[in-house]
Amino acid sequence: MYEARDISFEHAELDHLIKRREFGRFSDSGFRGSEDLNGTLRDLASPALCHKIERISYIDHSTVHLRNGMSFTSPILAKVFDHCEEMVIFVVSIGSALEEEAARLSEENRLTEAYVLDRLGSLTAEHAVNVFYNNVKRHYRNKGYGVTLRFSPGYCDWPVNDQQKLFLLLDADRIGVSLTDSCLMQPRKSVSGVFGLFPLTDGTTISTYNPCSHCEKKGCAARRKNLT
Ligand code: SF4
Repeated sequence: MYEARDISFEHAELDHLIKRREFGRFSDSGFRGSEDLNGTLRDLASPALCHKIERISYIDHSTVHLRNGMSFTSPILAKVFDHCEEMVIFVVSIGSALEEEAARLSEENRLTEAYVLDRLGSLTAEHAVNVFYNNVKRHYRNKGYGVTLRFSPGYCDWPVNDQQKLFLLLDADRIGVSLTDSCLMQPRKSVSGVFGLFPLTDGTTISTYNPCSHCEKKGCAARRKNLT
């Protein structure tokens, strides 16, 4: 069972996000006068995790069927999950304080600061998911399993409405995350998704299907490089 500590990260990792070229002068000159961005981010982001691992019953050409009777229809997801035995389902959130602060800055017409904070919040939530994903990957590799790329409802051909199914399986209330009628998560700086666990056959190489490698969709924020 993974817990909040499995998505915790070091201050240096936040620095790495802050020093991205897109934030330009904010990296060096501080933020909101005396406070620095790293401190602000640490004060406002409270990473929390909720997850479950479900056995897969079978997979047909378009649908992944779980043993608990739930199914997810998406031909791309079905292909990604080919050979998988289990599905890891998760929600990660950094809470609402950061977006509330970004909204406050926006109301004060400090739009650039609001934008930088909001964008860093998204990157921090993604980073927390990556920390979780890499922890699971390391753990299962030692047990002879590989992991697929991760996917979220709304990407590729997976209907966003399947968020409701993920939330039925998870106790997301426990970490303060809920779903609106239009399947948006509250707080906004939350990421939900799934990835698969499959037995490694030769124990040496990991090669999983990556639909992005031949997808022609332009500007997709979720495009991934091949796993190594
Ligand atoms: S680029 Fe990848 S994530 Fe984006 S739609 Fe194509 S297959 Fe899906």
